Amino acid sequence: MVTTTKCYNGSSMSYQIFDGHNDVLFRLFLKNKINAHEDFLQGDNEGHLDLPRMEEAGFRGGFFAIYVPSPEVKVDSSDKPIRYDEMKKDKYSLPLPDLIGSDQALPIVIRKISLLSQIEKHSQGKVKICLSGSDLEKSFQERSLSVLMHIEGAECIDDNFYNLEALYRSGLRSLGPVWSRPTIFGEGVPFAFPHSPDTGKGLTNKGIELIKHCNDLKIIVDNSHLNEKGFWDIAKYSHNPLVATHSNAHQLCPHTRNLTNKQLDAIKETKGMVGVNFAPAFLRSDGKMIAETNIQIVVDHFKYFIDYLGEDCVGLGSDFDGAMMPQDLSSVLGMKKLINLMMDQGFDDQLMNKLCHQNWIGLAKRILS
Ligand SMILES: [Zn+2]
Repeated sequence: MVTTTKCYNGSSMSYQIFDGHNDVLFRLFLKNKINAHEDFLQGDNEGHLDLPRMEEAGFRGGFFAIYVPSPEVKVDSSDKPIRYDEMKKDKYSLPLPDLIGSDQALPIVIRKISLLSQIEKHSQGKVKICLSGSDLEKSFQERSLSVLMHIEGAECIDDNFYNLEALYRSGLRSLGPVWSRPTIFGEGVPFAFPHSPDTGKGLTNKGIELIKHCNDLKIIVDNSHLNEKGFWDIAKYSHNPLVATHSNAHQLCPHTRNLTNKQLDAIKETKGMVGVNFAPAFLRSDGKMIAETNIQIVVDHFKYFIDYLGEDCVGLGSDFDGAMMPQDLSSVLGMKKLINLMMDQGFDDQLMNKLCHQNWIGLAKRILS
């Protein structure tokens, strides 16, 4: 069992958080400086996440994404190359960048792994890269920031899979075959609204091989960003629970990035997990990426998933430092507001603990040996 962890901050109660997706490594990488780890550890007060703010908010761990930006696409500050101006329109379908090769992607991935390692090394025990489910549970109970290393888009893995074993040895425990942009393993969804996630072909033969390698190594396979045919290929070839670390309900927001009821049925059947994403475009029924978005809609997606999947298959999947956030969640400190809103609407103590961390940690214990 995962221990129940809560504490009182003044008049409000807060819960310890383990989250399905953040991009703080991408934000720090964009600074292009040798001591970016110090900015994180000491707190640069930029973007959505740094260690002091995470500690204040009870944010004790999560999947830390390693993402490779496309060279031809300009990125600014913490934004991925998604054109938010286009995503404010009633309808949109944004073209995706071209595929990039493993020789181009691998050096960037190595730099981000080094950055994460520096963060752990200089944290005086406050940050721990976790390698197994029990490792994660122990670290979380000891109140270290408990990191699961995740690669979002498998561009860095070559078609002979030589790099995969080395990345595993470096701490990799979760992998998404695509970040929307195509890879040699499959196709992701373009950012389109309103639209079904059924946007293209399924996994390639190499993609099916990748899933088998991940199963053998006990690496979590992430379905977020993958198109629907790719999802069904993973459902067919993977013997692990189905996971979408940061995706919402297509029934409430018909965006390509979200999950249909049929996909949710399969996730439930395998006792998998979905992490609720805070990006407005994946929450709102009008699909618009605008910060002026009431966080009640985050609670609505939680309620929908709980009704559909039960209490054990849903958690957080914030996308902090990887996407625009609603204004009340303009940094991790906004989590208290969201937690209070959930409690005001009848989410009891046991449920809050499941949603805030227990379900994710339970999944890690089921998949990671
Ligand atoms: Zn993402």
